[in-house]
Amino acid sequence: MLDDLRELYQEVILDHSRNPRNFRHPGNANCEAHGHNPMCGDMLTIYLSLDEDGIIQDAAFEGKGCAIAVASASMMTQILPGKTVAQAEKLFSSFHDMCTKEDYEPFDTDDSNGEDEDAMERLQMLSGVRQFPIRVKCATLAWHTMKAAVAGDGECPLVPVSTE
Ligand code: ZN
Repeated sequence: MLDDLRELYQEVILDHSRNPRNFRHPGNANCEAHGHNPMCGDMLTIYLSLDEDGIIQDAAFEGKGCAIAVASASMMTQILPGKTVAQAEKLFSSFHDMCTKEDYEPFDTDDSNGEDEDAMERLQMLSGVRQFPIRVKCATLAWHTMKAAVAGDGECPLVPVSTE
């Protein structure tokens, strides 16, 4: 990766970790889950508001963790609103590949408005964790927890998640 690109990515990650977006507990959240990454000590709670059509209206989080875990959660909560649960899970799957596979290639998006591409471009900023396998869990904790939160079709008990 180009050095100045890497620097830009680091700046964005630091900005998100210092000023996390959507760091709150929304009163109308109908899905939530706890995520814990014992490898690093990251603890996140993800809150989602799903409407009747399975579209994510709002995403927020609370918790504490390293810069990567917090930045990833912050970025995720910006990306999710307006997406269906299926789209969110597809994005996670691509993001996971991006963080773990050396030969990752951007997935074929089937959306015409380029929204997914835009999301993947933003997530790309976290893909540097690929060089640090232990950090992959930090980067993906929020997404694992999101998946647990929606697993109950909108009626989610508090599900403990561990990425171990
Ligand atoms: Zn971490």
